[in-house]
Amino acid sequence: MNFLTCFLFLLVISLLSFIISYLLLSSYYRSKLAELLKKFSKISSSVEMDKILPQIVDVVSEVLRPIRCSLMLIYDNGELRIKAGKNICVTVVRGLRLKPGEGVAGRALETGLPVMVRDVSTSEYYYKLFSPEVKPLRKEALIAVPLKFQDKNYGVLNLHFKIIKKFPRSRFEGLILSIIAEQTSAAIHRCYTFYAVVSDSMTKLYNHDYIIKRLQEEIVLANKFNTKLSLVMFDIDHFKQINDKYGHQVGDLVITTISEVIRDNVRITDIAGRYGGEEFCLILPHTSLRQAVIVAERLRQEVCSRKFFTSNGEITVTCSFGVKEFSGETFDELISKTDELLYRAKSLGRNRVCY
Ligand code: GH3
Ligand code: MG
Ligand code: MG
Repeated sequence: MNFLTCFLFLLVISLLSFIISYLLLSSYYRSKLAELLKKFSKISSSVEMDKILPQIVDVVSEVLRPIRCSLMLIYDNGELRIKAGKNICVTVVRGLRLKPGEGVAGRALETGLPVMVRDVSTSEYYYKLFSPEVKPLRKEALIAVPLKFQDKNYGVLNLHFKIIKKFPRSRFEGLILSIIAEQTSAAIHRCYTFYAVVSDSMTKLYNHDYIIKRLQEEIVLANKFNTKLSLVMFDIDHFKQINDKYGHQVGDLVITTISEVIRDNVRITDIAGRYGGEEFCLILPHTSLRQAVIVAERLRQEVCSRKFFTSNGEITVTCSFGVKEFSGETFDELISKTDELLYRAKSLGRNRVCY
């Protein structure tokens, strides 16, 4: 074998090995891509933000294997806050709020483009946010990807990796990341769109129509699977007097504060809504009368303990509650029996739970 044949032989071998490894790699990424799309189609069947965000973080971690990652959403005041994450230090990030342009994520939001920092421990954008709480900072790369759907910004996805020279490390990795960003933005958009239809704009609780629909559905489920279901209805006491004495603005503040108390005191699976003006409703699936009374009592005490500042000084507010466990009655019967209990609480002197 002369030199030329030997050279050609080696060239063919290396070309073949390159083609084979390329094909293997692309089939590996193709299967990853298929797996990714399958997982996202599952996630998209839900429109509950609190459920889908941790699921998205799980999928991102599985597919791209970052050391840690977090998903930030834009709040009403335009700031970014972490809503879900993996391997992140909860105490450090709990109070983290980023304005557009602030930190790495804030820059991704402002520019609308992914931002990569090769080593966060030397990046002043990143370091300033956490110093002096986190010292020394780990040597990690950070990629912040803006989440945008139809020109609307929803948040930023942050991925931390070991120090790497560049990201994406391959064409496929870039493709996977862009699909993750698109699918995540679309899923968040769906949640917001759904929420705009079913929520009450003032309190951000579910609206009357949605409460009715969900109660009908929960009754069907409780009947079918023989599971427990309880209903709580409550109403602010002497609310007309509050409006008359302190004005509608104070009245509105009382309603929105009580709505916050409700949101802070129910589980993710509970369905909390504004039934009407100053009347609220809680649908508690898988909950017995005894447990529902505990929830109502906790809410009653929490509302009483709040102080509202008015032009005439501090005031407190009370609520009256009716609690009923579902026991095979029709939807109309369940509502009217719970309402009767609420009015019994009113007639017995208000600020109490009747069941
Ligand atoms: P009770 O203890 O028997 O429930 O007495 P109440 O005064 O709370 O009940 P009433 O039904 O007489 O009055 C309810 C008032 O709530 C009347 C209505 O104008 C007011 N209201 C309803 N929705 C809103 C709202 O969104 N904002 C404000 N400020 N007031 C509201
Ligand atoms: Mg009232
Ligand atoms: Mg009322």
